[in-house]
Amino acid sequence: MDFRIGLIHGDGIGPEIVDEAVKVLDAVAEKYGHHFQYSNLLLGGASIDATGLPLTDDTVREAKTCDAILMGSIGGDAKTSPWYKLEPSKRPEAGLLGIRHALGLFANLRPAHLYRELRDACPLRDDIIGEDGFDLIIVRELTGGLYFGKRETKEVDGVLTATDSLSYNENEIRRIAKRAFEIAMKRRKKVTEVDKANVLDSSRLWRKITAEVAAEYPEITYENMLVDNCAMQLVRDPKQFDVILTENMFGDILSDEASMTAGSIGMLPSASLNETSFGLYEPTHGSAPDIAGQNIANPIATVLSAAMMLRYSLNLDTEADDVEAAVQKVLTDGYRTPDIWSEGTKKVSESEMGDLLKANI
Ligand code: NAD
Repeated sequence: MDFRIGLIHGDGIGPEIVDEAVKVLDAVAEKYGHHFQYSNLLLGGASIDATGLPLTDDTVREAKTCDAILMGSIGGDAKTSPWYKLEPSKRPEAGLLGIRHALGLFANLRPAHLYRELRDACPLRDDIIGEDGFDLIIVRELTGGLYFGKRETKEVDGVLTATDSLSYNENEIRRIAKRAFEIAMKRRKKVTEVDKANVLDSSRLWRKITAEVAAEYPEITYENMLVDNCAMQLVRDPKQFDVILTENMFGDILSDEASMTAGSIGMLPSASLNETSFGLYEPTHGSAPDIAGQNIANPIATVLSAAMMLRYSLNLDTEADDVEAAVQKVLTDGYRTPDIWSEGTKKVSESEMGDLLKANI
């Protein structure tokens, strides 16, 4: 099949890790007879250098012609980079917020997968991790709730008072819930909806609407959990989770907690999806300017982001499984980039890791 993939190389290690992921994607295309047509898009610091702006209309227009976008990472060293002498709306990060908004990306997917081979990087005890590690995904609503509600700070009866409002309508909840259930159908078929329904009206609406959506997916085990309990359960027994569905602020906090338990920053992919199958896929780490150009960055988070792209935007599940299996195989064979290297394993460079992953497709 033919697909058009936007590539945002970005800044720092971004161009290197995207190149390694493209090696793997090309191997997938060759093995399965697909044609991936790549379109290079400017964003962040690279876009500022070329055009003066972190995001241009050209990039948005071109992005909309793609089936999905794979991004490295954007941004520079805040202390030394000239990009940070610009006003905030002209800095690299403004480009990222801008493109997310322009593409209507409302569903944020953050997997936390602990590979057995990297259990030393996990702060949890061995008996909690178990034999096979854990593999969960947090589906976080990204465009509503507290971060986008009405806010004000004013004096009330002579006392300075700040107010932030948390609002969701049923349509916003239904569309993200459907996304979470569709994702669970491709996984172990369990959805845990996380809220604070013992206190918040918005959470009670989340429960009502997600229960309605759950009724359309009888194959899926559906449960509700209070967010404070979920925060505990993530470190007590992460294996119990498959898909965690939650609103914006709870998801923000829980996804960082979950990623910490999954070990190295160089291993964690993410995705942001819109109403269609379109999505922007990127590692959760930043552009790591401190190690750019040294061929030592870990490309696995970006390669796993590419696997998510194959699964969720291009609907190529077998191909996505193949990429994830290649990552598993390379780790089992003992190859490690410097960030995940430990005594007794084989240290490889970034490009060698890319070659190994490609060879295992
Ligand atoms: P960072 O994630 O770039 O780096 C933190 C530490 O992790 C560094 O020591 C770095 O060398 C290491 N690291 C990160 N990715 C790695 C990889 N793949 N392999 C090996 N080591 C890796 O975070 P930071 O230093 O706070 O931010 C650097 C820049 O990235 C900033 O400009 C920041 O704004 C930007 N940033 C961008 C995104 C994004 O594009 N979505 C996200 C976070 C940060």
